[in-house]
Amino acid sequence: MASNFTPNPEQLTLLPDITGKKINGVGETEIRQPTPIFWHDPERIAHGDLQAWFYKNGRSEKVRSIREETMKVMATPISEVTQEKPDWSATQWTENLKQAALEREADLVGIAKVRPEWIFEGFEVKEKWIVILGLAMVFEEILDAPGPRTQVEVQTQYGRGARASHKLASWIQEQGWTAKHHGGPRAGSMLIIPAALEAGFGELGKHGSIINRQYGSSFRLAYVLTDVPLIEDEPVEIGADRFCTNCQLCTKGCPVDAVSPTKEMVRGVEKWYIDFDKCILYFNEHNGCAVCLAKCPWNKDGAAPRLTDKLTRRLSQNR
Ligand code: SF4
Ligand code: SF4
Repeated sequence: MASNFTPNPEQLTLLPDITGKKINGVGETEIRQPTPIFWHDPERIAHGDLQAWFYKNGRSEKVRSIREETMKVMATPISEVTQEKPDWSATQWTENLKQAALEREADLVGIAKVRPEWIFEGFEVKEKWIVILGLAMVFEEILDAPGPRTQVEVQTQYGRGARASHKLASWIQEQGWTAKHHGGPRAGSMLIIPAALEAGFGELGKHGSIINRQYGSSFRLAYVLTDVPLIEDEPVEIGADRFCTNCQLCTKGCPVDAVSPTKEMVRGVEKWYIDFDKCILYFNEHNGCAVCLAKCPWNKDGAAPRLTDKLTRRLSQNR
């Protein structure tokens, strides 16, 4: 659904010479580290002025105050490392850490081994593990996209992600290991979605977000980095990727035709891709968007578990 959207001319003057496609490596066949593109320090990204425009324009008082709270949480030091590490096996650490995450606001938790191709250029990650946390959104609020209720809900869940990752990192340090935490909406040192896919969160949807067996794509992500002895999770197949091949709801629903109907080669991986250059202008001007999430049938009440059951049954019959 291409709308009659015409970007504010001010935004157009702030566009850099390089495209998002180029920065993201669309069409590149070699695996490489991602280049920071948005939600990073404006000084180190080509779209820094455009990002500054987003922060300067719009955003309700409510969104601003939730964001300020989130930033405060992120800046608060976590617990000190204690000297005694419990003598737990990797299985016990994994069980206890996941339990600790779920008791500290996370709705989903998964573990992946850090890969260099998830670390942004210019950043360093030395930890072995990334623990991904998922924070469920209230989908009724997302149905207001691109309206103010959606923006409040998105910001609220990023705030919860900041608290959950802060509390989990504190818990880890109280058990004698070090940890680093990160919660959105600002980008951290790593791409989270590919790590969350490896950590068994679900499959990538055509709208560029993960589709999970419980929450569909109605959740946000946060993470903790650590060297605690852990056991990694495995990627899962729930039939979402195949479902997306035959569904066009987000493609048709996107006001600026930014959802590619077919997969693209991006830094050596063939995957669903959102056209950053089209999306970002609309996103910026509406202080956020999420229309593609609002359109996704996996997010309707109870749909994700139902679809997962049906599609995984079909997948196993076809094997
Ligand atoms: S978030 Fe971007 S891709 Fe999704 S509907 Fe809005 S403009 Fe389109
Ligand atoms: S709206 Fe349809 S195509 Fe888009 S992510 Fe959801 S299921 Fe996939």
